[in-house]
Amino acid sequence: MKIKLLKGDITKLVVDGIVNAANTSLLGGGGVDGAIHRAGGKLILEDCVAIRNRQGGCKVGEAVITTAGNLSAKKVIHTVGPRWNNNQSNEPQKLESCYLNVLKLAEENQLSSLAIPNISTGIYRFPKGKAAQIAIKTIQAHKGNSLQEVIFVCYDEENYQLYQNILDA
Ligand code: ADP
Repeated sequence: MKIKLLKGDITKLVVDGIVNAANTSLLGGGGVDGAIHRAGGKLILEDCVAIRNRQGGCKVGEAVITTAGNLSAKKVIHTVGPRWNNNQSNEPQKLESCYLNVLKLAEENQLSSLAIPNISTGIYRFPKGKAAQIAIKTIQAHKGNSLQEVIFVCYDEENYQLYQNILDA
């Protein structure tokens, strides 16, 4: 499985799957979540509402999959990252669990390429360096089955530099 690094807007990518940093309500929010719902249109929200009605949203560290609506992707995998709480609430384990559950859903749905944003490092304020290490370690440990390519998509320069340094090391 190839691992790539890109800087830019994740909604513009042509890949099988796009990962969303959602919240437990699955009803959309700010940051990348807002961007994905705006660009993908109402079909994504309709799927999210159906999941909510079935299972009551999505817990921190877990993931669900929906259509990608108008995006140039087949599926969106929504995962809920932990809100940083000074390392008092198992945030690193919860963030790792996000990546593991995203990978599981991607494989179960036979996705071959997947774009992932820097989960929890925006509104949820997880320290970016720590988050990058967890993200890269967890993705690198995965033996791709249908997954051939994972693209880390950084929106801000700080995350991009952090990822580049770890991936180059
Ligand atoms: P969280 O609540 O999990 O912190 P945010 O959406 O606030 O989620 O931030 C997660 C990351 O997504 C941040 O690093 C932010 O810079 C980034 N981001 C925001 N918009 C986009 C976008 N359109 N494409 C890719 N990444 C984005």
